[in-house]
Parts: sequence; C-alpha cells; structure tokens
Amino acid sequence: MRATRVPGEALARGHQATREAARPAGPQPAAHDPEAEGPPPTVGVLALQGDVLEHLRLLEAAGAHAVPVARTDELAAVDGLLLPGGESTTIGRLLELFGLRAPLQERLAAGMPAFGTCAGAILLGRATTLDDGTPSPQPLLGALDVVTRRNAFGRQVASFEADLDVGELDGAALHAVFIRAPWFEQLGPAVHPLAHVPTSQGEQAVVVRQGRILASAFHPELTGDARLHQRFVALVRQPA
Ligand code: GLN
Repeated sequence: MRATRVPGEALARGHQATREAARPAGPQPAAHDPEAEGPPPTVGVLALQGDVLEHLRLLEAAGAHAVPVARTDELAAVDGLLLPGGESTTIGRLLELFGLRAPLQERLAAGMPAFGTCAGAILLGRATTLDDGTPSPQPLLGALDVVTRRNAFGRQVASFEADLDVGELDGAALHAVFIRAPWFEQLGPAVHPLAHVPTSQGEQAVVVRQGRILASAFHPELTGDARLHQRFVALVRQPA
C-alpha cells in the first residue's frame, strides 16, 4: 500500500457521499482500441443488488459488451460475470429466489471467468467468517479457494480509502474505496494475492486472482478508474 488510510475522513461520509467525492478525483477510464483486440466479449453484471450501472459503464470502457444479468437466459449468454458489492447474505438469498444459484455454480465450475467485488468476492469464496473469526453460515458459490472475513476492518474503520499497489496492473497506485469490506485469508495454493493493506492483524490480502477469477475487497466502481475492469476483460478474452 503506497499511501495511508484516511478512516476519519471516510467515516465522516456515507456511501453515496464517498462515491461523489471519489469519482471526479479518479483517473478516467483508459481509451481502448477495439481493432487491436478482436470482437468485444459479452460480460454480465449480476443485477440483484449493488452498483450495476457503474460496473456496466466501466466494463464498456474496458472494451466489453456489458449486460445486466438477473435471469438464467441472461446468464447463459455471457462470457464472464462481475458480482457487485452489497450485502453477501442478501445477494445469496436473491440468487436462490431468482433461480440463479445452481446455474451460476455450474457456469463457474465449467470455468466461466468471474470478478467479485466486496460482497461479490465473499460470495465467490469457499467459506466466510464474521469479523471475530467465527464461521458465518451462508450460501456461497465456492469458486474461489479463499476464506473471507466479513466486515474485517471492524466498526471503527468501517469505511476507508487507500492507494494500493496492485500486481498485474500498469501505472500509478489504484485508489480504493473500502466499505464494510472483507479481507481474504486462508488463500488456497492456486490463489495469487495481488494487493495488501497493513492492519492490526498484519498485512492482509485485498485483491486476489485464481486463474480467470478476480476478486477485490473494495469497490472498484467508485473511482472511475477502469484498470481492474480492464484486467478482468483481459482474463475473459484469455483462453481457458
Ligand atoms: N459487509 C458486506 C458483507 O458482508 C459487504 C460490504 C460491501 O459489499 N460493500 O456482505
């Protein structure tokens, strides 16, 4: 992590205010050259809860044909899926209600690329705990070999911002907005940590990749910086 957390400032603002404050400061999405890369892959954004429109916009900026996914036929039509942040228990329930849990698990098991952000990352994991480390029994997709710790940064630092050096990304540090964020612990052997933050419990992973599955503990849609979305679109384009 290059710069410091600013928990006081972040705490003073709500989610919406953080978004408004963060967006103009962030770099604009990089231009992309469609001819250099072939036809755009179709990338879905799970549209049950969260910042669906922001993710669609950033995926388009990253060179994808981006579509919302709330039905099984929509899921069947995508080459990769982004799972936004929100509340992992709620999204888990909605997946069941919308009849999406089993088809999504099947697509993931068959190798569909996925990008989980915050609650979406928790859902992709194999297990999760509450902030005190006790198991949180809730439905998960189990595609990413990590145990996440929900609300890991605790109440006093519920939300904060940080500039992160993220492996596999070009350019300057990535400005990251954490909102009641998890961190990744117990990383399986195929999971590469790409960024860490210092915490009272040592360095903790906040971006990880396992094959063509990417996950961030923070909300990458809130700053206008499309580099993680670009990395995901590149993974979708990559042969399995
Ligand atoms: N705290 C939420 C959860 O446990 C995640 C928060 C978020 O997605 N911003 O599911």
